[in-house]
Amino acid sequence: MIDAAIISTGDELTTGRTTDTNAGFIADRLLALGVDVVAILTVGDRTERLRWAWTEALRLAHLVIATGGLGPTADDLTTETIAALFDRPLVTDPEVAERIRQLFKLFNRPMPENNLKQAAFPQGAVIVPNPLGTAPGYRLQVGTDGDPRHIVVLPGVPREMKPMLVDSVLPWVATLTGDEPIAYRTFQTFGMSESGLDEAIATIPGEGRWSFRANFPEVSVRVTVRGRDVEARLDAFAREVYARLGPYIYGEGDTSMEAEVGRLLRDRGLTVAVAESCTGGLVGHRLTNVPGSSAYFRGGIAAYANDVKEQTLGVPRALLERHGAVSEEVATAMAEGARRALGVDLAVATTGVAGPDGGTPEKPVGTVYLGLAASSGSVARRYQLWGTRDWVKLLTSQIALDWMRRHVLGLPLLEIGRRTPAAASPGRESVAPG
Ligand code: AMP
Ligand code: MG
Repeated sequence: MIDAAIISTGDELTTGRTTDTNAGFIADRLLALGVDVVAILTVGDRTERLRWAWTEALRLAHLVIATGGLGPTADDLTTETIAALFDRPLVTDPEVAERIRQLFKLFNRPMPENNLKQAAFPQGAVIVPNPLGTAPGYRLQVGTDGDPRHIVVLPGVPREMKPMLVDSVLPWVATLTGDEPIAYRTFQTFGMSESGLDEAIATIPGEGRWSFRANFPEVSVRVTVRGRDVEARLDAFAREVYARLGPYIYGEGDTSMEAEVGRLLRDRGLTVAVAESCTGGLVGHRLTNVPGSSAYFRGGIAAYANDVKEQTLGVPRALLERHGAVSEEVATAMAEGARRALGVDLAVATTGVAGPDGGTPEKPVGTVYLGLAASSGSVARRYQLWGTRDWVKLLTSQIALDWMRRHVLGLPLLEIGRRTPAAASPGRESVAPG
């Protein structure tokens, strides 16, 4: 097994203005390849600090992957530092220089000369192309023949770095890790706590390494298999995971609930609309984050005030007065109103007390009703959620999307109760039944 260290550079990281997301992304992908990540070092844009980080990282690991400090400005010191540290002269790559010139021409802007700094690489470097930006990355073998060490340098901008890592660097890393086959699958789940998932899969037989990642309200489970017959063994694991967690799994790999809902709706040629009170448009926002959502999303009505619920969704005033806006009856009427007004197959409504004010003993903060209207009829249900305002909104939007998914698949709607696995909450506690 090969070991690796990760270096994140930039004053924005050490001053706390930017959260280091690169290191976690890289560590996760390396781990999946069976690479042992021994350390993550973060330093600011100063030559002596960079020297320290590189020296230390190479003492710890045979592979070092760094991000940041590849820009054209004076505070971008990574390449200069590496050239000096490993005694490699800087060589300008004519193709890269030309590409940078062309990019500036394309955008009709004069090119400041210091941009060509990004075309200079330490001698012996293998260039890692950057399809989305001007600064390519590179890798370089350092150390001795008897003890080879490899360094990889990538730009700091996450959206440039990620495809470079995935498309160019990881396939090469895989060749370093020896020939023991390794494979993994990641299952994205919603509605079960991490501990609930752990309990459900703990007894699956077979040699695999399970890991969980909670990015609430979603929790992913990954199983990694090494050695012989990895694909067949992975398939056997996956069958068992689906048998045990079935309805809670909404997708595999890099995906999102909204993307999966979109795929299902599109495949079945169904249209949806939303009527949103406590989520204020968040469900519609998430649905429309998915490219191509116009194929199935007709629109949303953010009906916050009672008279707007009445006028735009046709919720009868008597219902609002008798049961209150946060009620099963109003959630149902909102969904039915949206289905009618927007002419869709399926409409989902949200209404609740997001807090921090507005709670009552009967309907405390976190009380949320969802409604769904389809050709088969209407349904509403109460959930008792927990947490801050933004959390209640996010979790409600997630449940709303999950309702669409489950409805389309003919699965029972999400249960949040004592005995069933709880919906994810920030405290990782069970959520009391509504
Ligand atoms: P650089 O390649 O150092 O010029 O970084 C360009 C930009 O990428 C920075 O201004 C940050 O906004 C972002 N960035 C750099 N490093 C990281 C990191 N480790 N995690 C997240 N964003 C980063
Ligand atoms: Mg920087």
